[in-house]
Amino acid sequence: MKSLTKVYGQKSLSVKAIDDIDFIVEENEYLAITGPSGSGKSSLMNIIGCLDRATSGTYKLDDISIESYKSEGLAEIRNRKIGFVFQSFNLIPRMSALHNVELPLIYANVSSEERRRRSEEALKIVGLTDRMMHKPNELSGGQKQRVAIARALVMNPAVILVDEPTGNLDSHSTEEILVLFRDLHRQGKTIIIVTHESEVAHQTDRNIVIRDGKIVEDRKIFRVEAAV
Ligand code: ADP
Ligand code: MG
Repeated sequence: MKSLTKVYGQKSLSVKAIDDIDFIVEENEYLAITGPSGSGKSSLMNIIGCLDRATSGTYKLDDISIESYKSEGLAEIRNRKIGFVFQSFNLIPRMSALHNVELPLIYANVSSEERRRRSEEALKIVGLTDRMMHKPNELSGGQKQRVAIARALVMNPAVILVDEPTGNLDSHSTEEILVLFRDLHRQGKTIIIVTHESEVAHQTDRNIVIRDGKIVEDRKIFRVEAAV
């Protein structure tokens, strides 16, 4: 991202949510974006995730300038390159876990057999093989979030974008979800988490702090890995 700016509204009512941000995320990074409420985290996530466009500046994803895409092209990039995980899970209540995970594959016109195979595989990765046919209201918070992570994984995206993933979870489920992200990172995924929980941010390898739409801190986290 170079000189990235996002302004909402017009003239005297305008709000500069992102103010001239520059940064690079390398493939296979695991990073957290933190900052107070209203600092621009979600605005930045929406741009990274191609859900919204910057007002000015450039954003390159895999060396492709996102500005040059029309909305259909953006939807396609989103479907293929990016997996989303949200605080509120965003699962469809009347559908089984399996069916929820299949949805991105349906949008991508994948055949039903292939959909089933890939969705079962994604649910296996998150440890929910025995809950595939359950509906969201029959699952715990942690299990719902794992279904959402399986859905984010099923298209095999390069980048996983996560907005407050543990905001609705107890500490045990938070721990489980963080172990899962760490594993996915080891397997090569790029993971970007927006969070206001410092324990979550400290599990990642890089913390970016934003305030009033500007990056005020960007540091690597060094840790001594426990021997397994
Ligand atoms: P955070 O996720 O860090 O809480 P946001 O990115 O949601 O911050 O918001 C950053 C600023 O932009 C805030 O001042 C917010 O009120 C404003 N904002 C966010 N979305 C919109 C919008 N759609 N229209 C107008 N202002 C917005
Ligand atoms: Mg937000």
